[in-house]
Amino acid sequence: MEPRDIIIVGSGPAGLTAAVYTARANLSPLMIEGLGAGGQLMLTTDVENFPGFPDGILGPELMGRFRDQAARFGTEFVTADADRVDLSASPFGVWVAGQEHRAKALIISTGATAMMLGLTSEQKLLGHGVSTCATCDGFFFRKQEIAVVGGGDSAVEEATFLTRFADKVTLIHRRKELRASKIMQDRAFSNPKIDFRWNSEVDEVLGNGRVEGVRLRDVESGDLSDLAVSGVFVAIGHRPNTELFKGQLELDDAGYIITEGGSSRTSVPGVFASGDVQDHVYRQAVTAAGSGCMAALDAERYLEALGG
Ligand code: NAP
Repeated sequence: MEPRDIIIVGSGPAGLTAAVYTARANLSPLMIEGLGAGGQLMLTTDVENFPGFPDGILGPELMGRFRDQAARFGTEFVTADADRVDLSASPFGVWVAGQEHRAKALIISTGATAMMLGLTSEQKLLGHGVSTCATCDGFFFRKQEIAVVGGGDSAVEEATFLTRFADKVTLIHRRKELRASKIMQDRAFSNPKIDFRWNSEVDEVLGNGRVEGVRLRDVESGDLSDLAVSGVFVAIGHRPNTELFKGQLELDDAGYIITEGGSSRTSVPGVFASGDVQDHVYRQAVTAAGSGCMAALDAERYLEALGG
């Protein structure tokens, strides 16, 4: 079977933008969109910071539009997860439910997954007061009282950022000292809007349809207490979705794909990476989309140099 020009694995803003660009460049992309098609925006409600939508748009609706745009120019979709890849030689292999697909170039945009506490109530209220992105959702909590869970740089940075909007931010941490860097800790300790609940775990997120509070468990005494908040930001880390690529691509210590500065090129020529799978700093839909465009242009140039 003739290899295709391009396969894109992952269908968040990065992958779908790469699909729009490569489809419009007549490269007939095949997108392995995965069972969790659409990525992290499928788990959010209102998106108010994606340029071009002055009235905001729902996350799933935005991703539906991205997909329609990619489909309009001829992207083919496979709605299943890739099980295995072979990046040892071009054409690269991608297996989905036992079926083999081959392409001369590959764009990886499998994203990252925000780690969650694993509570049913947290899952139920995700996008309804439970959030994993302060930059995205902080604005919705003006003059309210909210909680941030975690003790690392992300949690402390988010808590500090959220004090721009919220009247009070309670940082809930399971130990009695933070993991965050000293400078970030100092900033948080000196912020009068931030309270700390040490040695505390969230036992349950309270609320029916909307967050109304959290039930905390003191890890030493086991005592339960309720804290009234209208938002809970879970900031306990992210995991890049790179299991498939381990041992085949260069990854950093945290498992993110390493790309060559200012490009989407990975350690394997012809394999490009875009979006959160290679970016643990910005993590925004618009930056992911921008890097998906970069990957498409890099892949086009690579294919052109191969001679079509
Ligand atoms: P992290 O450093 O892994 O911290 C995760 C935090 O969440 C830890 O405090 C951990 O508690 C807590 N945690 C983990 N699982 C939990 C659970 N199930 N329940 C309750 N708490 C839990 O993750 P991160 O803060 O996202 O940072 C990731 C990397 O990015 C780090 O290298 C960090 O330095 C970097 N970063 C840097 C900046 C910056 O410099 N501006 C900003 C953000 C992130 P324990 O402490 O008890 O383990």
